[in-house]
Amino acid sequence: MPVFAHPEFDGHERVLFAHDAETGLKAIIAVHSTRLGRAAGGCRMWPYGSEEEALSDALRLSRGMTYKNAVAGLDLGGGKSVIIADPRTQKTPALLRAFGRAVDALGGLYTTAEDVGVSVEDMEIVRQATTHVAGLSSGPHASGDPSPVTARGVFEGMRRALAVATGSDALAGRTVAVQGLGHVGRHLCALLHAAGARLVVADIDAARLADAERSFDARVVAPDAIAAVEADVFAPCALGGVLDDATIPRLRARIVAGAANNQLARPEHAEALHARGILYVPDFALNAGGIINVAREIERRTDAGWLEERLAAMVGNIEAILREAQAKDVSPNGVAEAFARRRLG
Ligand code: NAD
Repeated sequence: MPVFAHPEFDGHERVLFAHDAETGLKAIIAVHSTRLGRAAGGCRMWPYGSEEEALSDALRLSRGMTYKNAVAGLDLGGGKSVIIADPRTQKTPALLRAFGRAVDALGGLYTTAEDVGVSVEDMEIVRQATTHVAGLSSGPHASGDPSPVTARGVFEGMRRALAVATGSDALAGRTVAVQGLGHVGRHLCALLHAAGARLVVADIDAARLADAERSFDARVVAPDAIAAVEADVFAPCALGGVLDDATIPRLRARIVAGAANNQLARPEHAEALHARGILYVPDFALNAGGIINVAREIERRTDAGWLEERLAAMVGNIEAILREAQAKDVSPNGVAEAFARRRLG
């Protein structure tokens, strides 16, 4: 499996393949860039179909973290890790500790935290093997689950997108189609419901759907139908690659604004959305609330208000990116990438 010749390889500084025979750990830690500081980004546990798939994900996700941290104004580089395992059946404390040892071997070059399939409780176990872990529930600087803060950032960014696209940021009476009711998706639904939005939801987990119906009066549709729902906003909050040749022509929402990382299957899909007049809020700019919360812990910030200031700055950056894209009649994705590259020098 080539790494340097891999299509997703983008000058990554370090790619570590970690194996532990005793626990069955197979993990990849990818550090894309430490230009702005030590790398930080979550750990995803997923039953990837192949090592190739896992490597692609690690390379793409870590590059995304470089851009996310840059746009969010954080002094952190981009990194990410993936564990090839099914979190429902293969997650054990010993495996998590073995992962912690792999993170520790990098000597602080990379700090890990939660992502899909990994919880705050899991990070507490990882902590037994390394200090380079954040998103913890205990300790003087513990920042806990980043998901509620991610959801807040997505919610506020979505309102700015509505303001740019329609002239009003009001959510009352709007319809939002939410794909994925996990850690972020559920919090986002709660915020949207409280703001008076109508919700249409999809997930592969029946209990989460029943909860959304009950708690938010949400209408449930099948997973393959959510992208084509009649809605003002489509909010992908499950996995990446959801905006592709098949879904983009079927979209009926005017705005795409969600938490999922790497929503565009390929970079040119940003242009396809723009050509259809759909305002795409770049995922790496919109979903940075969680890493801002994690950064508070990494940087041991105790000053009250730091998080709120950073979140407000993030949302302000999103609005600036969307307005610049609108003025130039281009996709916001390129504008956001240029914004990040200016910081990266
Ligand atoms: P999660 O694992 O808690 O939730 C994902 C949800 O998506 C689950 O409910 C799952 O059943 C559902 N799902 C999976 N496949 C689906 C499909 N085909 N159709 C519909 N639903 C499906 O993960 P999360 O922490 O909520 O993260 C969601 C997304 O947001 C991920 O892409 C993650 O990388 C990104 N993200 C999360 C954070 C955070 O703070 N947790 C921060 C930034 C980005």
